[in-house]
Amino acid sequence: MKALVYQGPGKKDWMEVPDPVIQQPTDVIVKMIATTICGTDLHILKGDLPEVEVGRILGHEGVGTV
Ligand SMILES: [Zn+2]
Repeated sequence: MKALVYQGPGKKDWMEVPDPVIQQPTDVIVKMIATTICGTDLHILKGDLPEVEVGRILGHEGVGTV
């Protein structure tokens, strides 16, 4: 699947990443219809959250079907 991936302060890439897998009995996989970034993602991109490592997939505000 494609994802917007954090590449360090001020850098991001639209890239191919592995499809999600169920890891815990309480997990679900959501087929996304629409998603966007939010203020938290903007702070990550700005470099305000150094604990966020390169490779983090951005965009957690979504609408989809389970
Ligand atoms: Zn958010």
